[in-house]
Amino acid sequence: MHLPKVVFEDIRLTREVDWIYGFLFYNEWGWGKYILKKHPRLKRLYNIPYRRDRIEFLHQYISMFRGAHFDDLRAAGLRYAKPWQKKEKEYFTLLSQIIGTEWPTNRRKIRALISINPICPRFLKEWSFSIFFKYKKMSHAIEVIMHESCHFLYFKKWLEMYPETDKKHFESPHLEWHLSELVAPIILNDPRVRKFLKTKAVFYTEYFKIKIGGKTAPAYFTALYKKYIGQKNGFEKFLAAAWRKMKENEKKFNIK
Ligand SMILES: [Zn+2]
Repeated sequence: MHLPKVVFEDIRLTREVDWIYGFLFYNEWGWGKYILKKHPRLKRLYNIPYRRDRIEFLHQYISMFRGAHFDDLRAAGLRYAKPWQKKEKEYFTLLSQIIGTEWPTNRRKIRALISINPICPRFLKEWSFSIFFKYKKMSHAIEVIMHESCHFLYFKKWLEMYPETDKKHFESPHLEWHLSELVAPIILNDPRVRKFLKTKAVFYTEYFKIKIGGKTAPAYFTALYKKYIGQKNGFEKFLAAAWRKMKENEKKFNIK
């Protein structure tokens, strides 16, 4: 079977600016706070009235920060690549067995873009994602790589099952996006996958506020996964059942 390879690259400055700006000013869950924790000087952005001046400030800040941490940014790719490459082939093979679809032959690379942003957004069109450069624990970096690459194969499977889906729905705040974010840690916590990670994969804390059938959303969908995954075409059955349940509970996902 063809398997992609994760390659580590620098993120472009303009993209770094765009995404950090988006999280600081447009994220409905207030995820900008995670960025401010790592980059407290960016709080000053909220005192700047015009967007153009804010972008300018952010641009300068990121350039300076990148200069000051040049060596660490340089080293991160190598630091992450070493332990990752020991797991890659086995993990990707297992993921394909679990999800029940092959890796597409036209995708050779998954690009991990070394970034100063502690939130790690993904770019579905090009199979890339940003990864924070300075994780203290290697397991955090490995979890990000496993989580994001899981999304890519998951959405391939999704389109095989629901080819009519508008790809915009793969992004926040759509229901399809929410389900994908619930399913990724569920897969990572499957005991067969867990051995690659060694820690428990995390769900967004927002999902624990949602109750379905008397359980939190992560607990409900984890139980549903366990119910189906051992069966023939288990993942497909799980996904169909999960999607039905998501639609029944759609209103609960308008979480703010
Ligand atoms: Zn995700």
